[in-house]
Amino acid sequence: RINRNDFMNALDEVQPAFGVSEEELQQVIQNGIIHFAPHVDELLKTGQLFVEQVRVSTRTPLVSILLHGPPGSGKTALAATIASASGYPFIKLLSPDTMVGYSEPQKVAAINKVFADSYKSPLSVIVVDNLERLLDWTPIGPRFSNSVLQALLVLFGRRPPKGRRLLIIATSSSHSILTDLGFSENFDSELRVPPISNIHSFEHVLTEVELFNSAAGTRNAIAMLQEAGFGRDDGQSPVLNIGVKKLLSLIEMARQEPDAVAERLLSALLGLGM
Ligand code: ATP
Ligand code: MG
Repeated sequence: RINRNDFMNALDEVQPAFGVSEEELQQVIQNGIIHFAPHVDELLKTGQLFVEQVRVSTRTPLVSILLHGPPGSGKTALAATIASASGYPFIKLLSPDTMVGYSEPQKVAAINKVFADSYKSPLSVIVVDNLERLLDWTPIGPRFSNSVLQALLVLFGRRPPKGRRLLIIATSSSHSILTDLGFSENFDSELRVPPISNIHSFEHVLTEVELFNSAAGTRNAIAMLQEAGFGRDDGQSPVLNIGVKKLLSLIEMARQEPDAVAERLLSALLGLGM
C-alpha cells in the first residue's frame, strides 16, 4: 500500500534540472573500488590531477580524457569515482544505458542538453560512458551513428563559454574503433585500464570480498589456481586475463555453492577459455 512516506520519498527523489546527478553516479560506484594493483591508484591519482588542472588553470577551460581498456576492466566505475570525487557543482553521467530506444535525433538532443546544462555551471565534469555504444557502433558493416559522432566531435572540441570550465571523461572498450572514427586525436590524455592478469591482484580481490572465511581458505584457492597453471606464464598454461567486473560476478556465482567455492571458481575461470 502507498502511504505518506512513499510520497515524501518520491519528493526526495526529484532531481534538479541541472546539477549533480548523484543517483546515477552512485549506482555505478556502489560496489566500490578495490585497490588490487598499483594501476588503480595511479589512474585515480591521474584523474584527480586533471580535476585540479581544470579547477585552477585558466588556460585550459576544456580538458578531455579517455579511459580505455577491455570489457569489464572497471572503466565506468573509475570514471564515475573520479567525477564524483571532483566536488564540482555539475557532475553528469552520459550513458547509453539511459538512452535505450532513443532515435538518433533524440540521442543527439540528449547529449547536446547535457553539454548545454554544463555550460551554466562554473565547473563541470561529464562522464561520457561507453563511447562506441553511444555511437551505435556495430562491427557488421561496420556501422555507426554519424550524427551522434558529429555531435560529439563538435562538443568535445568546443570551449565552454567564458568563465566556465569543463572536464570530459570518456570511456571505451575499443581504442581502435575510436581511432578508425577519427575520434582519438580529440583527447588531451588517454589512460589504459588493464584487466587483472596477475595472481596477486586476483588474491587481493578474493581477500577483499571475503569469498573465503579465512586467509588459509583464500591461499588454498590460489594454490589450486596455480596448480591449474594460472600465473605460470609458460605459453601453454591458461593465462589469467579477466576484468574485475567479470571476476566479481564469478565470485558471487561461486559463493552460491558454499561446499565447493574454490572448485566452482576454478571451473568458471577455465570455462572462460583462459
Ligand atoms: P564495460 O566494459 O562492460 O563497460 P567497465 O570496464 O566499465 O565494463 P565497470 O562497469 O566499471 O567496468 O565494472 C567494474 C566493477 O568492478 C564495478 O562494479 C566496480 O565497483 C568494481 N570494482 C572493484 N574494484 C575496482 C577497480 N579497482 N576498478 C574498477 N572497478 C572496480
Ligand atoms: Mg562501462
